Amino acid sequence: MRYFDYNATSPLHPAAREAWLEAADRYWHNPSSLSAAATAARECLEDARERLADMLGCDAERILFTGSATAANNALARQVAMASPGRAVLSPLEHPCVAESFAAALTGGVVELPVDRAGRVEMDKVVDVLDRHSAVAIVSVLAASNETGVLEPWQELLECCRSRQIPFHTDAVQWIGRLPADALGQCDYLTGSGHKFGGPKGIGFLVVPETTTLFHGDRGGPQQNGRWAGTENLPGVLAMVAALEALAVETDSFSSAAIEPRRQARDRAEQMIVAALPEVIVLGQATERLWNTLALIVPGHDGRRLVAGLERQGIIASTGSACSSGSEATARAVAAIGPERLGLATDKPWGMLRLSAGWETTATDWQAAAEAVITVVSQPSRPAQVRLG
Ligand code: PLP
Repeated sequence: MRYFDYNATSPLHPAAREAWLEAADRYWHNPSSLSAAATAARECLEDARERLADMLGCDAERILFTGSATAANNALARQVAMASPGRAVLSPLEHPCVAESFAAALTGGVVELPVDRAGRVEMDKVVDVLDRHSAVAIVSVLAASNETGVLEPWQELLECCRSRQIPFHTDAVQWIGRLPADALGQCDYLTGSGHKFGGPKGIGFLVVPETTTLFHGDRGGPQQNGRWAGTENLPGVLAMVAALEALAVETDSFSSAAIEPRRQARDRAEQMIVAALPEVIVLGQATERLWNTLALIVPGHDGRRLVAGLERQGIIASTGSACSSGSEATARAVAAIGPERLGLATDKPWGMLRLSAGWETTATDWQAAAEAVITVVSQPSRPAQVRLG
């Protein structure tokens, strides 16, 4: 099987596995205890925080280790709501763990920024949105879309927010481990997730501003300077940091020399598909995207059937959110852009397919994926089963 679902999760990097096993065997003591062995565990934890901080370009004290990116984003929303009762300004492509947690926590609700046909926030409209809405407590825009791979203008948004003294958060879950991350630490708040770049599941982090001494993620114990209670997942932390460091070495710090051949392999697969199936729409085609992601809209097909068909051809891919118009939820990116702007008939079904590669995915893998997409889409689509009763 060829795996094309890295935006959902990635296999454990060998360096992460080694670090995890070593930590589980040698540093299993509670880092908050007072014994010499616990002190050694605590030192490992703080060393990992420093190493991650180096890669993100921020001070180590700003990093809180969390159980996942979802936990980090939920805690951030609660914290922002507690600090100020305003509203959040978000992109419409945020992962539900940002969109839903801000909508639930903030009394002023959520305002969405306009996006272009690629799903990229329109920078020239941001100032207007910020001028029209009072009490903006935070602006949160993801660094790269999990559905389309489109890169959002987080650097410009950060500058814009800074000039207005509005805190800026970016969910960089899909960026970290794929592109250089050393400038991301400039954001006031930053979220990452270990399992998207070869770390284990169940470990993530949230970077908070230096001045946030009273951040409360989970309450209870004094861990992480009282800002995130709960015994730290030291094997998870060490494995996550080891995975990111190993990737940085293997890719010469996510250099364009490492990225370019992979981007070209994706682009060639995209060209093959579009040449054979001109009705297929490539999301984000005309803008900067992650080198690993290819998101396709296939008119007249059901995304889940396409994914099942691809698996029969040896390709593991995914769909966006389910997508037959009228009966199922629309993929977030398509809803944000608007089906009409993409040229999709609103009364006809369409399916979404997302292929997302890893560093080890080869040009041959991409070619096989393109051939499988062409085969599966060319097969006559069966009507969806009607369930009675
Ligand atoms: N944010 C984005 C952009 C994601 O793609 C995901 C996972 O798909 C998450 C957050 C949630 O990450 P986690 O699995 O660590 O909770």
